Amino acid sequence: MQAAYLTGHGGNEVVAIGERPMPPRGRGDVLVRLHAATLNRVDLYMRDSGAGITHSLPQVMGVDGAGVVEAVDDDEPLLRPGMRVVLYPGVTCGRCEFCRRGEGVLCTTMKLLGEHRDGTFAQYVSLPAANALPIPDTLDYAQAAALGVNHLTAWRMLVGKARLQPWETVLIFGIGGGVSLAGLQIARLIGARVIVTSRDEGKLERALQLGADAAVNSAREDVARRVLALTDGRGVDVVLENVGAAAWPAALKSLVRGGRLVTCGATSGDQPGADLRRVFIRQLQIFGSTLGDLREFHDLLAVCARGQLVPQIESRWPLAELHGALNRLEAGEQFGKMALEIP
Ligand SMILES: [Zn+2]
Repeated sequence: MQAAYLTGHGGNEVVAIGERPMPPRGRGDVLVRLHAATLNRVDLYMRDSGAGITHSLPQVMGVDGAGVVEAVDDDEPLLRPGMRVVLYPGVTCGRCEFCRRGEGVLCTTMKLLGEHRDGTFAQYVSLPAANALPIPDTLDYAQAAALGVNHLTAWRMLVGKARLQPWETVLIFGIGGGVSLAGLQIARLIGARVIVTSRDEGKLERALQLGADAAVNSAREDVARRVLALTDGRGVDVVLENVGAAAWPAALKSLVRGGRLVTCGATSGDQPGADLRRVFIRQLQIFGSTLGDLREFHDLLAVCARGQLVPQIESRWPLAELHGALNRLEAGEQFGKMALEIP
């Protein structure tokens, strides 16, 4: 089969596009013929170093994906060959303390596609049947693929962790990135007021067109001061951020008393200065979050099936042009998800 796979760590020279063996399908697994995947920042991380993530090379890249069921056990109750499916990217053990508590996303031996095992930038992938869910008719393959990491992560952050309410205000840092933009869409769905930040004026304008209530240029303005002005000196109820160190001082100052900060990334650094006095005196809550569980993925798909949420695909690239797509992702120019179309 055709696939994009890592042969080492470094730049695009370690990203090979060519023939890989067909993945064997074990008992209980589903073999999926992939039609689309989307790019995530972790693809760059795996290419560059993959440090701290147990994996062996060569390894097929790609964490999320969508396609068609090619083969499944005869006694599989839900899936049939030919069904359109989207993949939940984490393969859990089902046996550890966290899996048994129904919190598979905390599984001690979670194996993520494209990180710990072969991924989705390929014509085929095999994984447990429970990881493949039907795609609502409202979505094409690329849009469905975008849900698996990106929207699921933002969903857990806002719905599962911060429990954002319709009467609240959320501040989203770094709009344009996939999770931030998904966060804007989900916050709008909830009915909350949304303030976004970016260093890029064009991205702010596009966020306003997509329904953000206010936009702050973090290159030119003091974010916390502007946020306080926009909220009559009160501050926001929730901060969603995946920028890390560069965002934290402003994030903490922007929160109302009792406010919640939820983080899922640290692209600008993972050791922020944290004003602990502010944290305890104002009784702020800080949530770490990553991905989401199968129950949350089910809820997210149900919202999509009602036509209320469609991921923004900003560009579509053939598998053969993955190098160019990775360059664009690395430059941070994208607004929305970049999709890979698989022949
Ligand atoms: Zn487990």
